[in-house]
This record gives sequence, structure tokens and C-alpha cells, in this order.
Amino acid sequence: MNKNAVMALDAQYYLPVFARYPIVLERGEGPYVYDNEGKKYLDFLAGIAVNLLGHGHPGLVKAVAEQAGKLIHCSNLYYTEVQAKLVQKLAQRSGLERVFIANSGAEANEGAMKLARKYGKLQSESKVEIITAQHSFHGRTLATLTATAQEKYQKGYEPLPQGFSHVPFGDLTAMEAAVSAKTCAVLLEPIQGEGGVHVPPAGYLKAVRELCDKHGALLIFDEIQTGVGRTGTFFAYEQEGITPDIVTLAKGLAGGVPIGAFLAREEVAQAFHAGDHGSTFGGNPLACAAALAVMEAMEEEGLLDNANKLGQLLQDKLRQLAQKYPGVITTVRGRGLIVGAELAGQGRGIVEACLEKGVIINCTAGNVLRFVPPLNITAAHIEEVIAVLDGVLKEHGAF
Ligand code: PLP
Repeated sequence: MNKNAVMALDAQYYLPVFARYPIVLERGEGPYVYDNEGKKYLDFLAGIAVNLLGHGHPGLVKAVAEQAGKLIHCSNLYYTEVQAKLVQKLAQRSGLERVFIANSGAEANEGAMKLARKYGKLQSESKVEIITAQHSFHGRTLATLTATAQEKYQKGYEPLPQGFSHVPFGDLTAMEAAVSAKTCAVLLEPIQGEGGVHVPPAGYLKAVRELCDKHGALLIFDEIQTGVGRTGTFFAYEQEGITPDIVTLAKGLAGGVPIGAFLAREEVAQAFHAGDHGSTFGGNPLACAAALAVMEAMEEEGLLDNANKLGQLLQDKLRQLAQKYPGVITTVRGRGLIVGAELAGQGRGIVEACLEKGVIINCTAGNVLRFVPPLNITAAHIEEVIAVLDGVLKEHGAF
């Protein structure tokens, strides 16, 4: 099918919820993807922080193919070895004893909030409130879009679930004023991704941990975008010297096969009993085999180290561009391979110009270019992106 035919089918039949770029992608290899007209793109978005190993990684492809040939799905009425091994690995990696496997980020956050409510109610019937941060992003289900403190995701879906409140991200005074005996959980991204790659002030997350402890509230980290090595450690919270009570994962965990997970401290997890939560597909053998292959490749290929080193290089190079084009890039921030370059104006035009020149990035929060490439890129790939961006910014001129 040619490009126009595919786009016409989509226009006729798909729910009109996506503003897609006019490209039909067909295959990928390493950090590159190819469209159905043979054009090659360097993929520094990686399916929005998902393809941690790039495209067509031999270890991941082999694991998925082998598992697909053995058993794709069997429900959670039975045990599988791959699921047992995956939950063991995640628990050992996190310091949290219990794991539930879901299918997406939103679902992982839903489960985490359900668990927090159950646990809160063990202490008091009124301990049900959940505090989240403004400009956060936690998903598109009714509860997760309510947790997501951005009006654009909530408008039109009222009445929203009750018991949520929002505070400015990184503002400890506001958090102190908000947390009370009624708070069952504070839910935060350690670095806000969708909201514009916002890194909180040093010590903020640790102070929130202490505040939660003081009020008997749970601390939930949404590491759906920051987790699985993106920030240079497996979990971003490792760099803060703290552990949450619950952490959620998804996106990169299985390298592109749909998956989500929430992990909880033993005592918290005991608030759930048989029948309290579940999923038909969650934790199916295909997704678990893929996740195990991703974790294995991360260790064997030193990807945490790579994310640290190349993230630094990417930030340095973007800062050089910011100096060269001060009227265009105002700030560069991030950690590891989640990097944002804030612009003085809207970024969609720059993203489209990069795409035209064969580089995929995206723009979030309207004016923040976001770079979340596979973790196994090299310095040469960064040079390639920077050269293209340099040309695009030169043509673009100041806002
Ligand atoms: N939480 C964070 C931090 C995210 O970045 C996202 C997706 O962008 C989600 C939750 C929702 O994940 P999903 O789209 O898999 O439901």
C-alpha cells in the first residue's frame, strides 16, 4: 500500500484522536527507522521513550520469537517461569518486595493508586486523598487523567473521580501545606517528562519522602518515563538516596512490547488480597520474556553507563547550540538520556523541519524539544542529530 492509501484508511476508520505526521513507518534497525518510501530517519524519540534497545535488537527479537513459538498467553490462572523470573528481577533491582505486571503506564498507575487507597483505609476511612503535581502526566484513564494535573486532558470528562489535589512541582512549601492525615499517597514523576522535562530542585524528593513518613502517607514514584535506565540508573530515585513505597514502570520495560508494572513494599502490598486486582493480559509470557531480554541486554551492554555518558554529551552539545542561537533555545535540562531543550517559542515547526531532514524528535508542553533516544546510541548518532538541528535552527532564526 502506498503512503496516501494508508493515510486514507486511517482518516476514514481510526478514531480521530491523533495528530500524526504524514509518514508511514515500516521497519527499524538500531536507532534508525524507515518509512514505506525508503526514507531513513534517526529515531531520537524511540516510540516516546519506549524502544530502549533501538529497533530489531537481536537479543530482544530472539526472546520474543522464541516465546511466541512456545506460549504467547495463558492468563493469570496459571504460573509461568518467565513471569516468576521477571518479578524476582524487578523486586531485587528496586528494593521493593512485591510486583504486579500490567499492560501500560496508565494501568500501572491505576493499580498503584488502588493499592494506596486500600492501604490508607486500613488506617482510617478518610485516608484516601492523593496529591499529585501540576504539569504531571500519569495517563488517560479517568483516574490517571484526574491525577494528571493538566486541564487539557481532563476537559469534557467530568465528573472526575474524587479525592485528588494538585500542587506546583518542586515547591516543598506547597507540598507541606497540602499533605495531611487524609493523604493516602503523594504521586510524583521524579523528573516530569510530558510536562516539559522538569528536574526538581536538589533535595526536593527526599524532603517529600520525609513529609510522607511524617503523615503516614505513601510515596509513589511514576517512573514510567524515567525508569529502566533512562536517567543513568535503573530507577531515577536511586540518585536521590531514597526509596518510594510504590513505583510504577511501563514504556521501555519490554523494549516496545506492551507492558506496565507496579512494585510495592511488602507491608503495603499486603493490603491487597486475592481478587482485589487483576488483568487478563498483564504479565503474559510474551511481554515478560521481552522484559527479561531488555534487562539482560542492559546489563551485558553497559547501557546505564552509556545513558550517563551520552546524556552528558547530548546536553553539552545542545548547550553549545543554545549559545549559538540564544533567541531560539533558552534552557537545556535533563538527566541521562531524557533531555529537554526549552525554546523561546512553539516547537512544532522545528520538529517538522528535523523530520524533513531525517531526524525524529518531539516537542512537549508546546515549547520543549524532547530527546529520549534508545539507550544504546553512540556519540556519532548525537553528532548526526546536532548537525541536523544546527541546520534547522539556522534556517529558523530567532522567534
Ligand atoms: N506516566 C508517565 C510519566 C508517562 O510519561 C506516561 C506516558 O507518556 C504515562 C504515565 C502513561 O503511560 P501509557 O501511555 O502507557 O498509559
